[in-house]
Amino acid sequence: MRDSIYILDRLVKRYGHREACNIAHMEIIRGEILGIIGPSGSGKSTLLRLLNLLEPPTSGSVTFDGTVFDGHTSVDIAVRRRMTMVFQNPLLFNTSVLSNVAYGLKVRGEKDNREKAYQFLDRLGMGDLAREHAATLSYGEAQRVALARALVLGPDVLLLDEPTANLDPFNVGVIEKLILQANREMGTTIVLVTHNVFQARRLAGRVALLLDGREVEVGPTEELFSQARDPRTRAFINGEMVY
Ligand code: ADP
Repeated sequence: MRDSIYILDRLVKRYGHREACNIAHMEIIRGEILGIIGPSGSGKSTLLRLLNLLEPPTSGSVTFDGTVFDGHTSVDIAVRRRMTMVFQNPLLFNTSVLSNVAYGLKVRGEKDNREKAYQFLDRLGMGDLAREHAATLSYGEAQRVALARALVLGPDVLLLDEPTANLDPFNVGVIEKLILQANREMGTTIVLVTHNVFQARRLAGRVALLLDGREVEVGPTEELFSQARDPRTRAFINGEMVY
């Protein structure tokens, strides 16, 4: 039996009459990188917010590591700390890079938070950025710092919403390396939302396609790319889908 960190069951999220997400059943395997692809408006970000337990489902449930969360369950801080999300346009605090990365550790009461933050930045090859002021960073550097700030907390799950949209190829490469490094060295389970099928193919072990809030198909990346069962998957992967 596979070891699923998330099990989604008849998970529905509606905003008014609009059904943003409707997943009959989905499992996310501990330690995997799962790519979620799909056109704009297909429910990818909504799904990520549901996984982050930030928004209650309209119906159905998200089981995280054995605990069932439905629209009525309150989320314990200890559970919330096990997952962290990085958005497309991260907001950094108006302080140094080091303070930004140390902040979460400090909140958790870690004494040597600045030392730990520096060591972590250094390990990621970003030690030279530590003294910089967040406001002076390039967009690509800011995104790298946002990722470091999330990873330093050692989450079990990293939820990434289009982490490299609008980035230049150099920074895309650096961020992708950080994502793979976190997964391989720290065993972080990663859910990567992207409309970029090439990125999903480069990073993910499995990929799921969403359309209109529903899962069309999920499978091991190379299988999905070479022999998708659903014609809509083939069309999306080949860039032939009009949306
Ligand atoms: P994607 O991330 O794939 O672009 P989203 O999850 O952002 O898709 O959106 C899915 C659908 O849900 C869209 O039709 C969007 O307009 C709607 N939606 C998302 N968030 C909200 C919200 N907070 N209020 C109302 N509608 C929303």
